[in-house]
Amino acid sequence: MQPDQREGFRLKKLVIGLLILGLLLSLAGCGVIPLASEKTSGQPPQKAGVHIVTSFYPLYIMLLNITADVEGVTVSNLTRKETGCLHDYQLSPGDMQKLQGADILVINGAGMESFMDKVMRQYPQIPIVEASQGLEFIMHDGHPNPHLWVSLNGAKKEVDNISRQLASLDPSNQEAYARNSSTYIEKINQLQSEMHRVIDPAPQRQIATFHEAFAYFASEFDLQVAAVVEREPGSEPSAGELADIIEEIKNKKVAAVFTEPQYPTTVAEAIARESGVAVYALDPAVSGPDDKNAYLDIMQQNLEVLREALY
Ligand SMILES: [Zn+2]
Repeated sequence: MQPDQREGFRLKKLVIGLLILGLLLSLAGCGVIPLASEKTSGQPPQKAGVHIVTSFYPLYIMLLNITADVEGVTVSNLTRKETGCLHDYQLSPGDMQKLQGADILVINGAGMESFMDKVMRQYPQIPIVEASQGLEFIMHDGHPNPHLWVSLNGAKKEVDNISRQLASLDPSNQEAYARNSSTYIEKINQLQSEMHRVIDPAPQRQIATFHEAFAYFASEFDLQVAAVVEREPGSEPSAGELADIIEEIKNKKVAAVFTEPQYPTTVAEAIARESGVAVYALDPAVSGPDDKNAYLDIMQQNLEVLREALY
């Protein structure tokens, strides 16, 4: 998304938010519907269910943690888990249908969801939580790199961001969201310390990755991404680019070429063979099991891979 488009997108969200707020206030004023915080005398407050939809897998896992054991809150994922990184992904009619009945849509932003115009045209009433809102980006050719969650710092910032925005949309569960987020961030902190203990002293610092998913991860652990096989999944390098990548890998004494389990490994394997370096898989956590510990498990697995590849 271009900066001016992002600006327009934010403005649109603000205007829609204000319209919804105005509508709710006027309805509540007429006594048509009670606001969530309003208590009815003699009865426990009636909490309507909140259905949250996430755009793709890493956000879905964050939401499983943030909303864990919060009564009446359900989470589902818009795209199939196998979709992986969204990038140019277009929503199918089936995906679009999943937004019916959604109370909140959680997206990554920073250009990851290129289908948002379509969503906002068809479902202008759904409030949007943007995980990357206000965060600092690594830029590539004038575009923000959206893969924040692949670094542990980025994941923590996104969890905190989502939790705060959710709380303002659903104040009745504010404390639960804040408590769950702290618990989850603490778990990420523990793993992060363990990863620093292993990766920081590793003698090999140069890596080659499949696509630009690992920019934030590399920056966090002071690794250098010497070469990227495909800038975006599906954009296969030309013969000339292949030769350049192999040259870079040899010149910079890259430790290993890292494939991603979500994508074909043929090109990366050919590059590694030509350059005489090993191939390992690093997982950007864009697909996996339906389990709230999945991100932590995937990162733990990445740590085991790096423990071997960088020493
Ligand atoms: Zn990606």
